[in-house]
Amino acid sequence: MLATTTTVDNYINGQAVPPSSNDYLDIINPSTCAIIGKVALSRHSDVNAAVAAANAAFPAWSALTVKARAAIMLEFHALIRSHANELAQLIVSENGKNITEALADVAKGNETVEYATSLPQLMQGKIDYVSSGGVSCRDRRDPLGVVVSIVPFNFPFMVPHWTLPIALVAGNTVVLKPSEKVPLTMYKVMELVEKAGFPKGVVNLVNGTKDAVTSLIDHPLVKAVTFVGSSPVAKSIADRCHSWNKRCTALGGAKNHLIALPDCDAESASSDIVVSYAGCAGQRCMAASVLLIVGDENGSEQRELLHKVIEKASAIQPGTGPGQMGPVIDEPSLNKILGYIEQSEKEGAEILLDGRSWISRMGHTKGNWIGPTIIHHKNKSDKAMNEEVFGPVLSVYHVNTWQEAIAIENANPFGNAAAIYTSNGGHAEWFTRRVRASMLGVNIGIPVPREPFSFGGLYGTRSKYGDMDITGDGAIEFFTNRIKITSKWPTPTVPEYVMGVEQQQQQQQNEQGMGGGGGATTVDHANFAGRM
Ligand code: NAD
Repeated sequence: MLATTTTVDNYINGQAVPPSSNDYLDIINPSTCAIIGKVALSRHSDVNAAVAAANAAFPAWSALTVKARAAIMLEFHALIRSHANELAQLIVSENGKNITEALADVAKGNETVEYATSLPQLMQGKIDYVSSGGVSCRDRRDPLGVVVSIVPFNFPFMVPHWTLPIALVAGNTVVLKPSEKVPLTMYKVMELVEKAGFPKGVVNLVNGTKDAVTSLIDHPLVKAVTFVGSSPVAKSIADRCHSWNKRCTALGGAKNHLIALPDCDAESASSDIVVSYAGCAGQRCMAASVLLIVGDENGSEQRELLHKVIEKASAIQPGTGPGQMGPVIDEPSLNKILGYIEQSEKEGAEILLDGRSWISRMGHTKGNWIGPTIIHHKNKSDKAMNEEVFGPVLSVYHVNTWQEAIAIENANPFGNAAAIYTSNGGHAEWFTRRVRASMLGVNIGIPVPREPFSFGGLYGTRSKYGDMDITGDGAIEFFTNRIKITSKWPTPTVPEYVMGVEQQQQQQQNEQGMGGGGGATTVDHANFAGRM
């Protein structure tokens, strides 16, 4: 059993194992910038040990029935529920989410755990007679072996649980590489893994950064890799996996557009827009980034909507209590966000709400605080209008026509999410058919598909690289190989004394050449008859 500790080692073969180099990185609380622990910096030999443990555990784990594996997952689900508060507190301290968001992080991750307990029903194969002479084809799903999951900082619990539960119940063994910025949560989860009854080596943790990731991808026993994080890293990981001919799903960053039509309900839309861009301090791949307000800039509907958005965002208070907004993850992230605001000013944009006021207001904490910010752009080419900011910043831009809104949204290189605000179903339909993103909201600014749906952006954009899907039935496909078995059995000669009446009649018909119903004969071109 692991003790609750601020030293985060690796977790290999059911044991806490220090990194071979004995190197650690500091874990920083973003609200105060205080050091709250240290995390192992793993190298090649640590990765080798974790993969070897996972590989050794694979034969026995994969030999269990899906049902037996799901039963352990059910125990795990209950343990997560009973430890939700403890896990949420860790998320608040290492990630800076407010407590409500942290509890939601745990609850949403646990939804995929629940989904995975249904795999005995969901991952059955098919069977069909495919040719005459009793030739049948069936398929079954086999696990891949050792699979790897590499995850980002922004959802310390939920994102690792997009893949872990489905991969495990499907029969794979796993090596997880948490974000070095938020390693406490998943280290704590390893206690629950033990309590739930996962055999040693089935779930392993390797902490660290790029070195650990590269060694994991290159390891010959690793069969598949999932990645969630920024676009450049997602692309490099998918490319590296493909150079080894390994299966990989790599989800990248986002630039999500919200389009508000004059007929939207300003009261509910404004609340939703603020939650979308400022929730989790804007550090969500589903967060609103650009608000396109359609129609006359001085029109009463357009002015009312913007006024309400500013008013509601201004009311947000700094902190990690319910309804408050936490800090961003670290100083580089804060500086990057400040850079976008300053650059927008240089480009002639107007700052309608300036979150930089929080820096002096919260200076006593030394944390990475930046308040909700709203920028009114005059040029659609402004940097903040086009790049992922990943902070509580909303870029507002006025467009005159629907087509202009679509042109701006379609031109962005990402394709994760988009939303339309309107009171008219026909208008919503027009937009949802034209925006270029794969998770679309109608009057919902964080259009997160829930299980059993799959999650992720569009291939061909900077939001998704690799193959197949994460979560939902796409993940069942990702974490299994389909094995197809085509069989033909010689017709047995049934002794007369065991023949029933029906069979005797059938035999007589066959002898008299009456079988087959007298219709057209189907010519079977497949070589199932063993012809040369
Ligand atoms: P990141 O890319 O910096 O890190 C993600 C993971 O990759 C971490 O475990 C990190 O240690 C590792 N890593 C970092 N640099 C690496 C490198 N050069 N080579 C190999 N591994 C490397 O991302 P982040 O800052 O932790 O997370 C924020 C990003 O994740 C944002 O861009 C956000 O949009 C994206 N994100 C996307 C989704 C999605 O579903 N599309 C979900 C959550 C977050």
